[in-house]
Amino acid sequence: MSIIHLHGKSFEPFLPEALIQEKVKELAEQLDNDYTDKKPLFIAILNGSFMFAADIFKYLTIEAEICFIKLASYKGTKSTGQVITAIGLDTDIHNRHVIILEDIIDTGKTMNEFLPQLFNQQPASLKVAILLHKPNATEFNIKIDYCCFSIPNKFVLGYGLDYDGYGRNIKEIYQIIEEGKK
Ligand code: 5GP
Ligand code: MG
Repeated sequence: MSIIHLHGKSFEPFLPEALIQEKVKELAEQLDNDYTDKKPLFIAILNGSFMFAADIFKYLTIEAEICFIKLASYKGTKSTGQVITAIGLDTDIHNRHVIILEDIIDTGKTMNEFLPQLFNQQPASLKVAILLHKPNATEFNIKIDYCCFSIPNKFVLGYGLDYDGYGRNIKEIYQIIEEGKK
């Protein structure tokens, strides 16, 4: 792993593939235990969580369903502060054990707007499982039930996360090198 350049920005290696896989597998094992016989429904939030969701689902051994919705608030490396539903939920969650799969909680705005919409549909339970959390950026009080990594408040990409659409195919996670700090 070495420094990569994308769209005029530079990124340095941050989380290696093996460590990501280890943590994701651990989380899947925990979900296996917590949801045995509950036939949970996973809701993965596109685009960023597609790789995380796929790996969680591959490691999972219990009976479970997965569906996808698409929410977006980011443009480039900054949150626009506005959450748009680009693809909505097409599955009935009433009385279901629901687990949200999200790539990252940054300000928390996305979850803060989306979770009440789900609660309104009266699921049997509703939990949040995320790959990354930036605690120093989080402005909304979101209960995070499962989290693989707490990270500093710096833009990251790879493993499904993009910079302006690119970088999602990288197997590791890279962190931005902020100008003036190199
Ligand atoms: P929030 O609403 O919590 O501020 O932001 C959530 C969404 O912003 C995430 O689902 C993700 O798509 C995007 N996001 C937040 N931080 C990062 C980051 O460091 N890198 C990338 N690529 N996306 C991010
Ligand atoms: Mg996302």
